[in-house]
Amino acid sequence: MRVRRAPAFVAATVLALALGACGGGGNDTTSDTTVNKDVTFDAGTTMARLNKAGAVTVGTKFDQPLFGLKGLDGKPAGFDVEIAKIIAGELGIAPEKIRWLETPSKVREEKVEQGAVDYVVATYTINDKRRQRVTFAGPYYEAGQDLMVKKGNPKGIDGPQTLRAKRVRVCSVTGSTPGETIKKYVAPNQLVLFDVYSKCADALRTGQVNAVTTDNVILLGLVDANKGAFELVGKPFTKEPYGIGLKKGDVRFCEFINGVLRKAADDGRYRKAWESTAGRVAEETPELPELGPCS
Ligand code: GLU
Repeated sequence: MRVRRAPAFVAATVLALALGACGGGGNDTTSDTTVNKDVTFDAGTTMARLNKAGAVTVGTKFDQPLFGLKGLDGKPAGFDVEIAKIIAGELGIAPEKIRWLETPSKVREEKVEQGAVDYVVATYTINDKRRQRVTFAGPYYEAGQDLMVKKGNPKGIDGPQTLRAKRVRVCSVTGSTPGETIKKYVAPNQLVLFDVYSKCADALRTGQVNAVTTDNVILLGLVDANKGAFELVGKPFTKEPYGIGLKKGDVRFCEFINGVLRKAADDGRYRKAWESTAGRVAEETPELPELGPCS
C-alpha cells in the first residue's frame, strides 16, 4: 500500500470542500449501490430471511476514517461500509434499510454469536482463533500491521524491533490482532490498550504514547484525518486478511457473500467502492484477494 501524495494546497482545498459539503462528517461517498430487486432465495436460508425482512443489521466501525467513520448524519462511511452495502444490495435491501451497529474490535465475535448483527464488516482479520466462533466470507482485502508516530518521528522508530530498547509507549486496541502481536515486542508497561483507535490517536497527539499500532490502512486514515500531526512508519510486519464475520456454520450465507464479492470485482463495484473511500488516500487499488473456504 502506498500513500497518494497531493500537493499541500490541493489537499487543503479538497479537505475544505469535503468539510463544506458534508459538515466534516466524511460521508462524501459517491459509489453507486445497486439494489437487486429480482432475487429469490431458497427457503430457510439467511438470505431468504433477510430479503423477506427487507432490512439488515451490520456491524462496523464508527471511528476509522476511510473504512468506517460515522458522519454527522449518523451514518458511517468508508470501504467496509461500501462492501456491506454491496452485500445488502444483492440481498435486495437498499442502503437506507441497513441498521448500523458499532462493533469495536473486542465485541465482534460476541455480537455475531448473539445475533445482534447479521454480518460484520469491520477491518476484521480472519484467523483460526476467531474461526472457532465465527464463519468468515472473503477475504475482501489484505492489510498489514504497521506503526504510526508523531510527524518527524522524534523517537526514530523504524519497526517493532526498536520499541523495547527505545522505551516507546505504544497504543493499540483490546481484542485486536495488532494489540496481541505487539506484546512480543514490548514490556507490559509499554503497552496501552483502549477500546477504539481514535483514543489511541488522541493519546499520541497529547504525548501520552509515542506510537500507535494497528493495520496500515487504519493508520493511513488517521494520518489523513489529522493532517500534518502523524506519519506512518511504513513497514508492515504482519498479514491481516479482512473477512466478513457471520454466524458460525452459516456456510450458505458465506458462499453467497463470496459470490457477491466475485461479482462486484467483475462488474467494477469493488473498485468503485475502494476508489470512493480508501482509494482517495491509498495509491494502489487492490484486486479482490483469492477467497478462502467457508467453514
Ligand atoms: N484487523 C485487525 C483485527 O481485526 C485490526 C483492526 C481492528 O482492530 O479492527 O483485529
